[in-house]
Amino acid sequence: MQYEAVIGLEVHAELQTTSKMFCGCPVVDATTAEPNTAVCPVCSGMPGVLPVVNKKAVEYAIRVAVALNCQIAHTSIFARKNYFYPDLPKGYQISQYEQPLAENGVLVIDTEEGEKTIRIRRVHMEEDTGKLTHVIPEEGEPYSLVDLNRSGVSLLEIVSEPDLSTPEEVTAYASSLRDIVRTLGVNSGDMEKGVIRFEANVSIRPTGSTELGTRVEIKNLNTFRGMERAIRYELGRQAALLDSGQPVIQETLGWDETAGVTYSQRGKEEAHDYRYFPEPDLPPLVVEKEWIEEIKSQLPELPHARMQRIKTTYDL
Ligand code: ADP
Ligand code: ZN
Ligand code: MG
Repeated sequence: MQYEAVIGLEVHAELQTTSKMFCGCPVVDATTAEPNTAVCPVCSGMPGVLPVVNKKAVEYAIRVAVALNCQIAHTSIFARKNYFYPDLPKGYQISQYEQPLAENGVLVIDTEEGEKTIRIRRVHMEEDTGKLTHVIPEEGEPYSLVDLNRSGVSLLEIVSEPDLSTPEEVTAYASSLRDIVRTLGVNSGDMEKGVIRFEANVSIRPTGSTELGTRVEIKNLNTFRGMERAIRYELGRQAALLDSGQPVIQETLGWDETAGVTYSQRGKEEAHDYRYFPEPDLPPLVVEKEWIEEIKSQLPELPHARMQRIKTTYDL
């Protein structure tokens, strides 16, 4: 059977403001700073503390949303995403869910067949988690170290529609996004430092079909080359499954760069598993149209000339 690939990308980009998203702690280089030195009661999840939104982070997020030709919401809502993990001391991440900052954007990429418009589903704000280091000592039990320097750093999530059709298009889209956040001065683009991270949702379907196949989500993609290899591997794996009459299982996969294979990390969690609810410690985020205009007027020239010709709209 002939299949075609359907790919959607989720991109997490730290907003490299001076201080974190909801507290005054400095944003430090998580790969070089002494662990747990940029931490306070708010970002270490102590009880009884209150978050305060960093206006600069909202401004940075709006820069990106405008550059991606999104509709920017006049009012957006912070939401609690509840889950347990040792790098998340609060037991929940402050994110946005039902009413994100921005929706319905586009990014035009260059492909072999010419220009292609990739639709952007949503751009929302959230906070980063801490970082775990797993240690396997020569003697004794393995253990993990928790560094909360990254905890509470502003993070932007940019989610595309499943409009990408080849691994090359994914790289074109991802590198274009990286160029944009760099040019906007909101992110250094240092993939090796983990300040911008990519997750690929991959499915296949019989060529010509309009239905979506079952997708998997691939994490730990640290380089564009690795991402292309992982996607190509996954497309082959899925085609082999379908050809032999077996189903693709919806799950979260990791990518093993050395072995060149994807591996199962966990079953796919659903939104309802997170028990999202509006964050009671933060009021709705209101963005005035005048502020958007001001930010827009100060944007630098963007790397892809085409993008400026598309008009940004607002839902007021
Ligand atoms: P979540 O991962 O949180 O469940 P979404 O439902 O928002 O999130 O989808 C995440 C990403 O998966 C989006 O980029 C979307 O375009 C992509 N996607 C959804 N369905 C498919 C599919 N069948 N094949 C490939 N990508 C898909
Ligand atoms: Zn702090
Ligand atoms: Mg996802």
